[in-house]
Amino acid sequence: MKTKQKATVKKVTSTNGSMVDISLKFNEGWSYSPAPESTDHVSIKERYELFIGGKFVKPIKGKYFATINPATEKKISEVANASSEDVDKAVKAARKAFGPWSSLPARERGKYVYRIARMMQEKARELAVIESIDGGKAIRESRDIDIPLAAAHFFYYAGWADKLDYAFPNKKPKPLGVAGQIIPWNFPLLMAAWKIAPAIAVGNTVILKSAETTPLTSLKLAEIIQEAGLPDGVVNIITGAGDTGAAIVNHPDIDKIAFTGSTSVGKIIQKAIAGTDKKATLELGGKAANIILDDAPLDQAVEGIINGIYFNQGHVCCAGSRLFVQEGVAETVIRKLKDRMQTLIVGDPLDKNTDIGAINSKEQLATINKYIKIGKKEGADFYQSACDIPERGYWCRPTLFLNVSQSHRIAQEEIFGPVLAVQTFRTVDEVIEKANNTPYGLSAGIWTDKGSKIFNITSKLRAGVIWANTYNKFDPASPFGGYKESGFGREGGLPGLQAYLNLG
Ligand code: NAP
Ligand code: MG
Repeated sequence: MKTKQKATVKKVTSTNGSMVDISLKFNEGWSYSPAPESTDHVSIKERYELFIGGKFVKPIKGKYFATINPATEKKISEVANASSEDVDKAVKAARKAFGPWSSLPARERGKYVYRIARMMQEKARELAVIESIDGGKAIRESRDIDIPLAAAHFFYYAGWADKLDYAFPNKKPKPLGVAGQIIPWNFPLLMAAWKIAPAIAVGNTVILKSAETTPLTSLKLAEIIQEAGLPDGVVNIITGAGDTGAAIVNHPDIDKIAFTGSTSVGKIIQKAIAGTDKKATLELGGKAANIILDDAPLDQAVEGIINGIYFNQGHVCCAGSRLFVQEGVAETVIRKLKDRMQTLIVGDPLDKNTDIGAINSKEQLATINKYIKIGKKEGADFYQSACDIPERGYWCRPTLFLNVSQSHRIAQEEIFGPVLAVQTFRTVDEVIEKANNTPYGLSAGIWTDKGSKIFNITSKLRAGVIWANTYNKFDPASPFGGYKESGFGREGGLPGLQAYLNLG
């Protein structure tokens, strides 16, 4: 993969007095040799069934669909398309397992959850490669972030299983029953871990549906769960599209819906469960403000902007997709940002040098391109890095828009791709008002040298998670969730545990 960056020439005087060019030339000075991650240790079946009641079973209607590799557009495997009859079967298996599982001594439950975490670690390399093949994300990210964090969630909640008296003193916490869990395609295994680990640690049983384009690591997790000897029916993992999700939401014998996905589907779910006893947590979309004050450490801030919007191809609900730079440093920040964008490598997700992998699906690429067109039409200044991209597959170069105004759709709507909308501001009050002028409220970032400014601004921003002088940092002990159209309820930490308990 070559980038077409033209480096500026930078000369220094060497010890013998001659001038030496020390500028980085990404085309000529050096090039990266391919560093592909090995796929030898990976086993993917040609076809996957549904994991119900501890066994892999055929879908009742016998329907399957293909999952493809978005970097090559080639079919990887086919997976079962669960119908409402399969959902019913899974709910029955989960209901049957609930009594014995919830009455098991908490220490024993904790051991199972811990065992799953250990086995995920043992298979971490295989899981990372499959995550990258199925979803398009760079192997560096699946290897260093998705898979370790997913295992960390199981470890963390394994630890809480027998300590609920300390977590919720003077309460009598009881599991809710059967949980229906629906996850998106941007962090497939991690989202499965966020959902399953806290639920089963405290005695619930679950039916989890993975997203249509990224079913494989959930099915690998099903294999791990089977191998770990978890009692049958405690975790049921099914595959399918939106209809399967709707069948879970509408099933009468489900006590709790845990959903992560778009705000539009979140609204459908909210309507569907209105008037029922079902509890719900909805983790929805976002349009986070990443705020750079003029006293910020600018080089670190530029790294934070890059990480905020280009991490995982921008398919991140908490992505810092609205950048606010204070006027005095705007020119410098934009120049540094453009330079840094030119060094990003877009391409083969399995190459360890890759920074930005493939866009998850053809549909998502079309959505991103639609917003790029809208941004241009609305009059914002368009800038994209000049890197080469592979011919096949779904790709989007790192993109930014300058001179964006609050009313632009690219500043208001979630794009869910590597597209940054940049605005400037003069005063702190102005940026707080602009940052809060959004239907969403999931996350935000702030960069400044002054702790007092951090406390002032963070206390006034309406966002569930706010990072200061860093971005996209996750930890199982830290709750995550939104305000307004970003949903309600928290995952992670003790609030994440509480979401699966009746505190009495
Ligand atoms: P989506 O279209 O809402 O899909 C999410 C999940 O719901 C998928 O498994 C989907 O199935 C399923 N689904 C679709 N229609 C349904 C229905 N009527 N009833 C029940 N389930 C249904 O969202 P997405 O495009 O996959 O994911 C991107 C969105 O997720 C973004 O908006 C992002 O911000 C949000 N997200 C939020 C968080 C958070 O923690 N707040 C984290 C990650 C992502 P299929 O995919 O198989 O059709
Ligand atoms: Mg796929």
